Amino acid sequence: MIDSDCIFCKIVAGDIPSTKVLETDRVFAFRDLYPKAPTHVLVVPKDHYANVAELTAADPALAGEVLRATAEVAAAEGVAESGWRLFSNTGADGGQDVFHVHFHVAGGKPLGRMLSN
Ligand code: 5GP
Ligand code: ZN
Repeated sequence: MIDSDCIFCKIVAGDIPSTKVLETDRVFAFRDLYPKAPTHVLVVPKDHYANVAELTAADPALAGEVLRATAEVAAAEGVAESGWRLFSNTGADGGQDVFHVHFHVAGGKPLGRMLSN
């Protein structure tokens, strides 16, 4: 299940370079190209799903693997104790730019309030 027009499918395939942080059979994690925090890593399933709703409906076990990987990334990045934030944007109001589901792992500094007013 690869979408040939999807940049994150291309990153998973190695057709677009990225800085890999973690890889398992079904999960890939890489540094965000435009980091918003000292640690800013994107964690994706290798299979293409557009968003959290599609991923969890189609393959909840894979969703669990992705979620576990986010915690492993946080530990590897050294932010497990200081704290970190996990988020996944969906659709226009969510601010989603890339339509291959991805979880942002951010930390390494105080991140402030979750949402601006
Ligand atoms: P979204 O806005 O969809 O939640 O997040 C997309 C994220 O992907 C953004 O934080 C953006 O900086 C990152 N991004 C976009 N294009 C690339 C790319 O080609 N490589 C990497 N590593 N990150 C990218
Ligand atoms: Zn994709």
